Amino acid sequence: MADDWTPPSGDLMKGKRGIVMGVANQNSIAWGIARQLAAQGAEIAFTYQGENLERRVRPLVESIGMDFMIPADVTDDASMDAAFDAVKDKWGKIDFLVHSIAFAGKDELQGSMVANTTREGFRRAMDISVYSFIDCARRASEIMPDGGAMICMTYLGAERTVPSYNVMGVAKAALEAATRYAARDLGPQGIRVNAISAGAMRTLSLAGIRGGKSLMGTGRDWSLLKEDTRMEGVAGAALYLLSELGHSVAGEVHHVDAGFHVVGVPDLPED
Ligand code: NAD
Repeated sequence: MADDWTPPSGDLMKGKRGIVMGVANQNSIAWGIARQLAAQGAEIAFTYQGENLERRVRPLVESIGMDFMIPADVTDDASMDAAFDAVKDKWGKIDFLVHSIAFAGKDELQGSMVANTTREGFRRAMDISVYSFIDCARRASEIMPDGGAMICMTYLGAERTVPSYNVMGVAKAALEAATRYAARDLGPQGIRVNAISAGAMRTLSLAGIRGGKSLMGTGRDWSLLKEDTRMEGVAGAALYLLSELGHSVAGEVHHVDAGFHVVGVPDLPED
């Protein structure tokens, strides 16, 4: 679990300010990343989906000595305007953005992709999980006059078929393409855009996928390291991509999945 781990402290993000979007609870990938960035000196503005989540997110944010929290629903332009205006008013500019947001309906995340993907479900998954990153990249780049770095979160279901992942796999493929196009557009402004492809981790989002637990088990058993993907690896990769350590890295989809993504055939029993 996320809280078994103590993020290494240091100065890699000292003097840097940025936005972390997508903390829902202590297991959220965004929370692991935020803890690591904070331990390296970053100042963070947290966005959360709505009032219902505030009660869960506020104690976490306060536990790392921060208090800048803004509601932001990525499907609502007025809410996004207000969130980015609040950051601009307080800080003027930022250095990094973490986008750790996705959604598809439960009905879509099971069975047959062909049978279960409705037009409305497709539109919603693409809007929340893909368009929102493009929108955030534009808004964040407007307050990054000195350059900066952005990341989003993806999964192997973008590249290969995964049971039940369905329309979310289609959305993640689009998100990875959007990462490359955003990296191309923003590179000349000194803004690096990258994605982290994490292995299956026990979060609220995974719970929404039929058979999500088995995805974790298979991820572990087939992986090269024979272990679950750990938050410290994902958060460490985020630190690398968002700090000066990641200089010259742009348009990349960086896998943090214990090597699962390179396996074509799992270990065979002895003949
Ligand atoms: P999570 O449920 O903790 O985080 C998902 C976040 O998306 C939540 O904070 C939720 O509030 C937010 N969100 C959904 N709709 C929104 C909206 N309309 N406006 C604003 N926010 C909205 O789960 P997580 O696993 O930490 O997911 C974070 C990211 O990591 C997602 O992009 C997910 O696809 C990706 N990812 C997860 C795994 C995994 O196994 N858990 C693996 C690879 C990638």
